Order: sequence, then C-alpha cells, then structure tokens
Amino acid sequence: MLPSIPIYEIYAVKYAGPFIRPVAKVLWNTDWEKEIKINYYIWVVKGNDETFVIDSGVAPPLAQEMGLQGYVSPVHVLARMGIDASDIKKVVITHIHFDHANGIELFPNATFYIQEKEFNFWIKDPLAKKPPFLILSDLRGNANLAKLEGTERLVLLKGDQVLLPGIELLLAPGHTPGLQAVVVNTMKGTAIVGSDCAHIFKNYEEEIPSCFIADMVAWMKTYDQLKSKVSSLDLLFPGHDIKMSTQYPKVTEDITRLV
Ligand SMILES: [Zn+2]
Repeated sequence: MLPSIPIYEIYAVKYAGPFIRPVAKVLWNTDWEKEIKINYYIWVVKGNDETFVIDSGVAPPLAQEMGLQGYVSPVHVLARMGIDASDIKKVVITHIHFDHANGIELFPNATFYIQEKEFNFWIKDPLAKKPPFLILSDLRGNANLAKLEGTERLVLLKGDQVLLPGIELLLAPGHTPGLQAVVVNTMKGTAIVGSDCAHIFKNYEEEIPSCFIADMVAWMKTYDQLKSKVSSLDLLFPGHDIKMSTQYPKVTEDITRLV
C-alpha cells in the first residue's frame, strides 16, 4: 500500500492594508474610473510534521519609510497564531517584489526557496533596474538575498520541484520572469497559492491579469496550467484579494484559514 500524501492547511496572514487602488491597476485595462481595496499578505502552510511560510512580507524599516497603512510586522502577526518566525525553517519566495521579498531578515533561521530565473533577473540582470521593474523592487531586500547566494540558506530552483510530500513549487511566469506558485494537498483537494499570478480572484475568473506584466503570453499559459492543476477554481488563491481576509474563517486578528 502506498503511504498517503500528507494534508495541509493554508492560512492567509494579512500584514498591511487595506490600500485603495484603481481597478485598472489590478484588473488590466478595465474600469478606469473605479477603485478597489487590496491587502498585503504572506501565507502559512501547516502540516502535521512541518509548517512553512510563503513569502516574507515587508520588514519594519521599509514599512515605515513607505508609510504602509495598517502595517503590523509579519513577525507579530505570526505570533498571534503561535508561530515564532525564528522557528520557521522554510520560506518559499514566490517572486522578488518588495511586498513579498523585503522581509527575509524576519526569518533568521529559514532557508529560502526561489526560482533561479527569478533570482537571476532581479539580482543580476541590468534590465531589472529599468523603471517599470524598479518601481516594484526593493534594492536593500535584494541585497540581503544576494548575500545568501552560495549558502545553504538559499535554494535556487530550476523549474517545478517537490518541496515536501504533498507540496510542489511550480514555475509560473508572467507577472515576473520566474514567479512560482505553491501547490498544496488539502482536505478539499489540490489548492494553489498563486501569489501575484493574480491580484484578485477575478483575474483568474476573467483571465485578465493585473497591469504589472513581465510577459503576457507566458502569463496566459500559466493561467491555463494552474487552472488545469487545481481541484476547483475556488482553491486557486490570489496575492492581494481583500476577500482572503473577509470571507474565510477568522483564526485570530488578521489571520484566516483559507482551506
Ligand atoms: Zn504583490
């Protein structure tokens, strides 16, 4: 008999927001006159044997500089669910935008898992310094990441990879050159934390991405791939939808259980 695949729970951990954005920014080229609220999140994936974190959020110095509304350090939000950030051994970085990758110093004992393609673009490619990329980048956070190269605390992945039994990392480019989504075996079936592959659920429903585009053709292929992999569309979670805070069981302040 085959050993059964472990089952995990996924928690959305809101660490900043709400922010008001033009809809056209979040849902490319639509509703120029309307606005929408979004939040900033990291995610916790909890299994019987191992708990890991997806994305690192923003550390206090950058949050303060940017005046991030509703900011609480991810370390403090995680503590509300009994997680000590310094106990976390694995952090999957979905992509190297400031709101997902600035806070790596918050997890001093973690190994970070990033797609090599993503790392090489943001850390090494001069193109990443051009305005459309730089606007979402955080050079200090990137420098912290660069320092980890060659150490056991940084694992650069070449495409799809099994992280743990029941957990797979999928190369899912489009929003950024090497974004990765996290496929999670849950009690409802296969769920995916797609991070900013979509900002809101509606991006997936209508197959319109956000306006932050590195490669639109790759992005549409990624949508097909993620949709074919997930057990149902409601288990495909976006990066910034306010619904993740408001429409799921609340565990404690700013933390909800998605599945
Ligand atoms: Zn984001």
